[in-house]
Amino acid sequence: MAAVPMTSLPDRRRRVRFRRRLLAWYGRHRRDLPWRRTEDPYHILVSEIMLQQTQVDRVVPKYHEFLDRYPTLEALAASAPDDVKRLWYPLGYNVRPLNLHGIACEAVATYGGRLPDDDEALRAMRGIGRYTAGAVRCFAYGRPVPIVDTNVRRVLGRVFLGPRRLARLRGQKAMWDLAGALVPPRKAYDYNQALMDFGATWCTPRSPRCGLCPMRRSCATYRAARPAPRGADGRVDGRARG
Ligand code: SF4
Repeated sequence: MAAVPMTSLPDRRRRVRFRRRLLAWYGRHRRDLPWRRTEDPYHILVSEIMLQQTQVDRVVPKYHEFLDRYPTLEALAASAPDDVKRLWYPLGYNVRPLNLHGIACEAVATYGGRLPDDDEALRAMRGIGRYTAGAVRCFAYGRPVPIVDTNVRRVLGRVFLGPRRLARLRGQKAMWDLAGALVPPRKAYDYNQALMDFGATWCTPRSPRCGLCPMRRSCATYRAARPAPRGADGRVDGRARG
């Protein structure tokens, strides 16, 4: 099966409409999460690394416990890796606390105890990939950069590509290009948080809430599943959807 390039990105009107609907949805459904009450790059990094492979409700108490013990990069860098690993238990994937400890040591040694606001420098650190670097830069430094995790990929794929094109998509670049085209220059923080919440709680893998979804009229997946009914004159009646 041939790979599908992202031949055309959504036009400005569609991008604006998608953001507007997403942000309106976020205003009603946003989750109150502790890492949304800080702009400390280190605290945001801790939350992002904990959230890799672990559900939010398990991360919240450990996030507080971890930052009570290691409130700064300096405190973490000065600790013994085995102690950090012990505190991390039972989140699992124990390479994560060791990576975090390594990042803290590097930040203290090279960047004066602060995470750099630079994609290349962040991604040069062990355990920080494109997604995590983007999350730190957007959520801590306010940069209008895209982030793509499995939730974001699913939402953008469903809305803008539809099932057939999404299934044929190969590699990550096309999805990052799409995500990058959609990030607003302002309100990038809310937009990216909204996208993740929308994927995690609404447009979920197995039970998407299409019937009440604000995106449904322009969602490629919804439209593919429900061909538009036609009126007596043969014209598509978009109002009948949902
Ligand atoms: S209509 Fe359904 S598939 Fe499309 S964005 Fe909404 S919940 Fe997701």
